[in-house]
Amino acid sequence: MTAEIISGTEIRKTILAEIKADVEEMKAKHGKVPGLVTMLVGKDPASVSYVTLKVKTALSLGFHEIQDDHPEDIPESDLLALIHKYNNDPDIHGILVQLPLPGHIDEQKVINAINPDKDVDVFHPINVGRLMIGGDDARFLPCTPAGIQEMIARSGTRTSGAEVVVVGRSNIVGKPIAMMMAQKGAYANATVTIVHTGTTDLSVHCKRADILIVAAGVPGLVKPEWIKPGATVIDVGTNRVGMNKTTGKAILKGDVDFDAAKEIAGKITPVPGGVGPMTIAMLMKNTLKAAQYALEDIR
Ligand code: NAD
Repeated sequence: MTAEIISGTEIRKTILAEIKADVEEMKAKHGKVPGLVTMLVGKDPASVSYVTLKVKTALSLGFHEIQDDHPEDIPESDLLALIHKYNNDPDIHGILVQLPLPGHIDEQKVINAINPDKDVDVFHPINVGRLMIGGDDARFLPCTPAGIQEMIARSGTRTSGAEVVVVGRSNIVGKPIAMMMAQKGAYANATVTIVHTGTTDLSVHCKRADILIVAAGVPGLVKPEWIKPGATVIDVGTNRVGMNKTTGKAILKGDVDFDAAKEIAGKITPVPGGVGPMTIAMLMKNTLKAAQYALEDIR
């Protein structure tokens, strides 16, 4: 039987509509809307396109949005001073610094300078620690892992007691999603295994996964025969494997052989149109939450 496709494009639409309704409510109740500043240094084409999409999405939701672009050679101290200014601006609830930054700027120093209550990308060590503690302490969830968990939840996949295998141990995807799925609570409470480049045999672990989350960045890494029949497969991999000569757009492939895997899995995310569209939606959700916390004066 062919798997049910979990469409990130569709789920994103629902989430953005929910956020928009909450923004309207906030406006009516407090006369305020969520404020997001997006800071871009330099003109890296991928970063420009990500920031453009973030700005467009924020504006479409009725957020107060400041696009703060800077030349490649901005001194680190100037960038830190700007972050300090936004930390103290009551109309700004979320500060997003687009990464990577040029070599002369210490990325960690910049992340550490952001007020954790405005750290909507969830890279500040305090927020990483809060995620580890879980429960109410985990105020914000990092955007891509949060998108993955939403897709699992909204597709009706059972997580409690499930075997979850995460391929990849990066700080932005593998490690946080593994921790989130292992926490006690809704859409989690799973038994989690993390596999990576040091794992002797990936297939052994993947084969027992009720939920297989793949974030390796290696096209076609997961073979169809490694998938447990009926499993939910979340393919985070976004690999540029060529260029469409007609559209001029990159051809994207995931880490899973989608065509073969969809004949075995119960539910599966496509690439593109799966996890990708969810990330910015979750960034908007974090900005909304940051504004709600600030307006209710919750610390
Ligand atoms: P990363 O390179 O930082 O980490 C990849 C991880 O996969 C590493 O921990 C490594 O140990 C593991 N890995 C790599 N090759 C492996 C192999 N052959 N066997 C076992 N493990 C292996 O990457 P990342 O930032 O976590 O991103 C992973 C993928 O997800 C990339 O394709 C990236 O483009 C994509 N991604 C998508 C989104 C999104 O859709 N919004 C967001 C972040 C990352």
